[in-house]
Amino acid sequence: MGLMKQSQLFPKTLRENPKDEISANSKLLVRAGFVDKLMAGVYTFLPLGFRVLKKIENIIRQEMVSAGGQEILMSVLQPKENWQKTGRWDSLDSLFKFVSHYSKTEFALGPTHEEIVSPLVAKFSLSYKNLPLYLFQIQTKLRDEKRTKSGILRGREFTMKDFYSFHADEKDMEDYYKKMKVHYKNIFDKCDIGGKTYITFASGGSFSKYSHEYQTITKAGEDRIYVCDECKIAINAEIIDEQKQCPECGNKDLKEQKAIEVGNIFPLKTKYSKPFGLKYKDKNGFPKDVIMGCYGLGLGRLMGAIVEINHDEKGIIWPEAIAPFKVHLISLGKNEEADKIYNDLSGKGVEVLYDDREDATAGEKFADADLIGLPYRLVVSEKTVAEEKIELKKRKSDESKLINKKDLLKILNNQN
Ligand SMILES: [Zn+2]
Repeated sequence: MGLMKQSQLFPKTLRENPKDEISANSKLLVRAGFVDKLMAGVYTFLPLGFRVLKKIENIIRQEMVSAGGQEILMSVLQPKENWQKTGRWDSLDSLFKFVSHYSKTEFALGPTHEEIVSPLVAKFSLSYKNLPLYLFQIQTKLRDEKRTKSGILRGREFTMKDFYSFHADEKDMEDYYKKMKVHYKNIFDKCDIGGKTYITFASGGSFSKYSHEYQTITKAGEDRIYVCDECKIAINAEIIDEQKQCPECGNKDLKEQKAIEVGNIFPLKTKYSKPFGLKYKDKNGFPKDVIMGCYGLGLGRLMGAIVEINHDEKGIIWPEAIAPFKVHLISLGKNEEADKIYNDLSGKGVEVLYDDREDATAGEKFADADLIGLPYRLVVSEKTVAEEKIELKKRKSDESKLINKKDLLKILNNQN
């Protein structure tokens, strides 16, 4: 349910920025009580952070289902043989390896799931009638990252949406790949980072000319990208030497920017279907290789990127679609009117965080409201009660106004 009293909320906000965090997103998220750092690159999501994560998850899930995806859940613990089949047991530096002390059997802790989903689909004899097929999951990934200084932007353990598409031919895969770009744009727009997120040409590895990353421009970014203002696309620094102009329009006047990668999409073609014998029977009954694509999106990275872009010196400014609560209701002094508004709003389905603390000053309450960053702040005090009004302020703006109580719901439902 969308209601919570701040006197009971775990944990309390911190007065100071944590000393061991460098990036703005992790300083703010730790200080405001959204996440707690367990060790480098590993975070616990606390009640406020968990609510944001679930909202992002739901936006992504909705979009993936509308892209035709069927949701599954694959395991984190994975057999070594699968990774040997693709050669990645030895070649993937970020692969965590794990030994059972009973059997001395070796396992991989999944950094991605091509090695699981490809043999999964290969178990079921497919015909051309079963294609295309789309499977996705939202699952924990583990990667042995060298650098983990950017808070939740680069984790050793993180939640990722990974989506795999299976096609009869390359043309079908390429058409679908274009459709998926539209779904990705919808997700970034809903999370309010669409304007700063660029589809970025990156190396395709050995199996394709290009892959595509989604890069969000921010000073905290660890990647360098080169943006074409004409096409609203970018090129990753790793391929700029071979590709000094925009691949779409030929523009050579590209702007260097720092950015963070929030997602990526790959035309996998037969890279994983071949080693696992993933084939289908065509119209004439002949076996053919299945053509694959994959589409990743990091939930924690998205959350970190949203905070990097949406904050000021006082705290976070959550976009309404993913804010943990819509309204921060503040009671100044003990007053029954605030209790009543809290019950009214929550009865009407409005998500409210109610600062009912009796031991906090007005200044502390306002500072916490700015730090936590909910879209609307409502203040109920003796003064507003005497005037039969409520003070309303948007986190995005500096102006507050007194409104009539009867107009409150209408205003909250109509404003964006
Ligand atoms: Zn261009």
